Amino acid sequence: MSAFETWLFGKFGPAEHAAAGWLRDAVWPEGALCCACGRITDGETLCPSCRLDLRAQGYVFSWDRAEPAPGLTAWGLRPHTGIHRTLIHRLKYGAEARAARELASLVLPLPETLSFSPDTVVTWVTMPESRYRNRAIDHGRLLAQAVARQLSLPCRQLLSRRNNRARSQVTLSMSGRRANLKGAFEPLEKISFPVLLIDDVRTTGTTLARCAEALREGGAEQVTAITVTRARDGK
Ligand SMILES: [Zn+2]
Repeated sequence: MSAFETWLFGKFGPAEHAAAGWLRDAVWPEGALCCACGRITDGETLCPSCRLDLRAQGYVFSWDRAEPAPGLTAWGLRPHTGIHRTLIHRLKYGAEARAARELASLVLPLPETLSFSPDTVVTWVTMPESRYRNRAIDHGRLLAQAVARQLSLPCRQLLSRRNNRARSQVTLSMSGRRANLKGAFEPLEKISFPVLLIDDVRTTGTTLARCAEALREGGAEQVTAITVTRARDGK
């Protein structure tokens, strides 16, 4: 992230960012700017330099497998740094929907031990409504839809958010995160198929575990999670 953006992110909230995004789209037609660094491109989602970054950093990726809760396997793709982190920030705080497609393209190829039957439904971590109003973009939904397209699987919302006042997880400790999200999600339908849960970043895995719990409440027997990046606790 450039010094200018650090300054801007510190100074203004997500609503201002979304407004700036709309203004920018009105001035430059969609696709005229790189969705990571904001430079003018030839209608490509990424400028040559960011494309190169993504490719170069792609070579050092490794799938990281964890079990944040009993019976929940969570696959995390890249460390939460560099171009991947920039793209996630653009998607979440800059209302840059095109970044979802670029991030989703990173999930292929899947690790050898991971495959999905065609009846698997892709879903996402439902965002609190208050946060959606602030950001004007549901990054989880966009990411899940893009991943579902990559994997040729159906995608729909399976969870609703019970407690819309849940605090952001970012500043909380592990135990704080657990308490904050207790009972936060509930299933929207009877679930009799395998579920693939998508999120942007995995830190402690608490959010994923809570979602998996709710999916099981709905009847899901098999839940797998994929996050684009994995962050160390506290990042
Ligand atoms: Zn760029």
